[in-house]
Amino acid sequence: MKKASLVMSIALLAVPAAAVASSHYWSEDEAAVILDKTIELELAPSLEGLAEGERIALSHLLEAGRLMHELYLDQTHHQALDARKMLEALATREPQQAEALGKLFHVFKGPIATRPDNTRTPFLPVDALRPGKNVYPLDATRAELDAWRNRHDDGALLDPMTVVRRATTANARADLALLFSHPLLESLHPGLREELETTLKTPQPQGFYAIPYALAYIERLMPVYRHLLAASEAVRPHDADFADYLALRARDLLANDYEAGDAAWVSGSFSRLNAQIGSYETYDDELYGVKSFFSASVLLKDVEQSAALARAIADIQALENSLPYSRHKKVRTDIPVGVYDVIADFGQARGTNTASILPNDADHARKYGRIILMRRNILTSEELFRDTRAAWQAALAPAFHQHLDMEAGFQRTLWHEIGHYLGVDRDERGRTLDVALQEYSDLYEEMKADLVALYVAPELRKSGYYDDAGLRALYADGIRRTLQQVKPRRDQPYQTMQLMQMNWFLDKGALRFANGKLVINHDRYHDAVASLLREVLAIQSAGDPRRAAAFVERWARWDENLHGVIAASIRDAVRYRYRLVRYAALPETGRD
Ligand SMILES: [Zn+2]
Repeated sequence: MKKASLVMSIALLAVPAAAVASSHYWSEDEAAVILDKTIELELAPSLEGLAEGERIALSHLLEAGRLMHELYLDQTHHQALDARKMLEALATREPQQAEALGKLFHVFKGPIATRPDNTRTPFLPVDALRPGKNVYPLDATRAELDAWRNRHDDGALLDPMTVVRRATTANARADLALLFSHPLLESLHPGLREELETTLKTPQPQGFYAIPYALAYIERLMPVYRHLLAASEAVRPHDADFADYLALRARDLLANDYEAGDAAWVSGSFSRLNAQIGSYETYDDELYGVKSFFSASVLLKDVEQSAALARAIADIQALENSLPYSRHKKVRTDIPVGVYDVIADFGQARGTNTASILPNDADHARKYGRIILMRRNILTSEELFRDTRAAWQAALAPAFHQHLDMEAGFQRTLWHEIGHYLGVDRDERGRTLDVALQEYSDLYEEMKADLVALYVAPELRKSGYYDDAGLRALYADGIRRTLQQVKPRRDQPYQTMQLMQMNWFLDKGALRFANGKLVINHDRYHDAVASLLREVLAIQSAGDPRRAAAFVERWARWDENLHGVIAASIRDAVRYRYRLVRYAALPETGRD
């Protein structure tokens, strides 16, 4: 899962509303505007049947997750951890206000709220959101960083797992002190000490350098390392492959290189527990779309359903070969896919993610494949589906109201993830797509995955994987996916690409807008999907961010008389806009 040079820069300049700093604590009434529209969901899969060693491993993984969540908070806002202390202090003076703001902190994973009109603002007295969050210097602009990058060919600045700093004496001195206090890091990162010493000797306050996450976040990564090793040891008698993966991932975090752990993760045969651990997804970097943010997910596998699913996904090479582009690649046919219940999510992964496919690193994916984690207790939540169906029925003409079901959501999500496996993964010059398309890469990668899920469906109908009703429901969910409650911000890759799909489908006649409702034309559906997928694959192949930007500009139009009307109907029909997820395994998420 993976982000617009020209367009994005303009979009960022055009949202000064989001840059207004807050000097006060929101009142309970201000918080209620959000909380009245927030569904509270508890995830509590049964842990019966876990062996004692697995339970001990689980408790260590949850502790590692708590630390990863703190890392994430620190990465996304330089005052997020202070904001949490402000809430604790407020709780002694104004417990009810603190409880309300604590819920907001939980929903938004930090001190910045997204208002119902989709603008963002602090609800605690902290600085406004910055596009580079806390992984670039707070005062650095994209123009300044671009100018430096043009003069110095420093690939480390846009590495997914580095923090960018100003090349000042103070910064270099602090980083060197951190390095000297962790001798293990000096051995694991040859050359790092010399680089920092050079900056110390010849500082360039207008310039930049980058240090690995392993050094920048070592104070929290060391205890994560220890918890992962303890989890590995505890689980080894029950699940040697999982134990090997955890021990390798512990080391990966200090080495700032996930290859060993990724290989063990994707190729291992785990029994019950699984865990996504590390810094993978780049959605939170609104400056370049390249920096990854920490997350952890602790998951419990449904062994039988996973095996059945793996059997059902037979020959995906034939599906790859059927895609509308020419540079077909060889794909692994035995995709490691599993059906899981979420025990707990931390950091970037917290929320109602329905599935993941990792790793994103193109070389790791090529060498070892990618693992697909389907999150069943979110995908099949009746509580969440109630609003999903309400939105569908509000937007579509009555003839289509019964077409949608929960199973279609599961299938479309599964094939979206498999879609990430297929198609273009490097541009014609051999560059990975995040490097080639930069902040457009996520948007195109997600649109490709959506479209592949729909494109391969007729083939899967022929092979008997879907029946007629299943195919119709999948097609319904493909349209349901494009519905918006509010005009997307251009920095929202998912919502923007969904809007583009809707506009394309309308233009190609697969959708029609009549009497304020959408009407599907199934005769035009596949051709519309195929033609858009062809464009997306061609843009990914070309690797030209200007072409990518122009296509977004053309197709991400928002018409108040069409999109605005549908969005208003949906807003009236659905009960909730925000989601607060609690985890039975984490009692503290029941409090804040
Ligand atoms: Zn995706």
